[in-house]
Amino acid sequence: MAQKRDYYEVLSVSKTATAEEIKKAYRKKAIQYHPDKNPDNKEAEEKFKEAAEAYEVLSDQNKRARYDQFGHAAMGGGGYGGGMSMDDIFSQFGDIFGGFGFGSGFGGRGGGRRVNRGSDLRVKVKLTLKEILTGVEKKIKVKKYVSCSHCHGNGSENGNSTSTCHTCGGAGMVTRVTNTILGQMQTTSPCPTCHGEGKTITKKCSSCHGEGVVYEEEVISIRIPAGVSEGIQLSMSGKGNAARRGGINGDLLIAIEEEEDPNLVRDQNDVIYNLFLSFPMAALGGTVEVPTIDGVAKLKIEPGTQPGKVLRLRNKGLPSLNGFGTGDELVNVNVYVPEKLTDKEKQAIEEFKESPSFVPSSSAKQSILSRFKKMFD
Ligand SMILES: [Zn+2]
Ligand SMILES: [Zn+2]
Repeated sequence: MAQKRDYYEVLSVSKTATAEEIKKAYRKKAIQYHPDKNPDNKEAEEKFKEAAEAYEVLSDQNKRARYDQFGHAAMGGGGYGGGMSMDDIFSQFGDIFGGFGFGSGFGGRGGGRRVNRGSDLRVKVKLTLKEILTGVEKKIKVKKYVSCSHCHGNGSENGNSTSTCHTCGGAGMVTRVTNTILGQMQTTSPCPTCHGEGKTITKKCSSCHGEGVVYEEEVISIRIPAGVSEGIQLSMSGKGNAARRGGINGDLLIAIEEEEDPNLVRDQNDVIYNLFLSFPMAALGGTVEVPTIDGVAKLKIEPGTQPGKVLRLRNKGLPSLNGFGTGDELVNVNVYVPEKLTDKEKQAIEEFKESPSFVPSSSAKQSILSRFKKMFD
């Protein structure tokens, strides 16, 4: 599982870089990793996409501010995070290559072969708090297009029985010239016969009918880091659908969902537990057991513990995704007042009815009220 790199690091700029510096830095990276310069280089393509993603966020004032405040978590599920295809990148940032001899379409203007990319695959993974605490490896079954093993993905029955496409003469692109009042207009588009591949198959593979891919069930093992939260999207590069005939695989996008815990409520990296003390326990003190994410903990109750008090179990929360620190478990104290009493119990309590220690002093009232006030602020 690839953890996302910091966007500033991706573009090699400082956190205080100006818009102009960010643009310059992106242009440099984009040219360095441009697919025209790095044909069939998967690593360069990833770098190219990574830089585009970083630029998409850092070049937008609002997105940059959100990213500065919340990091990658702010971008989760918002359509970023590996969600940009090569075509998106060129259509959005194509102008940045102006004057560098690159075309605006994938593969360039020079009529190079168009590269197919498989579509991204989206899955949801539901996790318990315990799984989020430690991180987990999940094996999930997905149905997806995979490269055909019979023809090794090239789509032809006998090794490589292809012939040059007669429509485009192997260029993969067709150019149409139209006469207009303003002169000749030239438009270039992928060849409709060979879909930009430049060649057609003479004898199609019997297993995949020439597509180079087959639809199959596959078990994918996904390593989920500790500290993830609902709404975060992870991506595994190249684990999505395979492309027709030897293109680039799409990505696998994993949306994280949280399973509701029977006892604990998550609040960022902390978890909250609502404890109900009996009246005698609150008054006399003692020890109680409270559930934690992965077991139970013993908790000491001081005599005279008031409702609204929050007890803190340090480091019993969840680790932060970026590895800095661990949350706590916050135990909210409630005191249960008995609703039905036996005659004997009633009698015992009656005895203390007029006792001054059962009536709160004004300072005790103040401190209890201020605690409740804090909870609702
Ligand atoms: Zn095949
Ligand atoms: Zn063609």
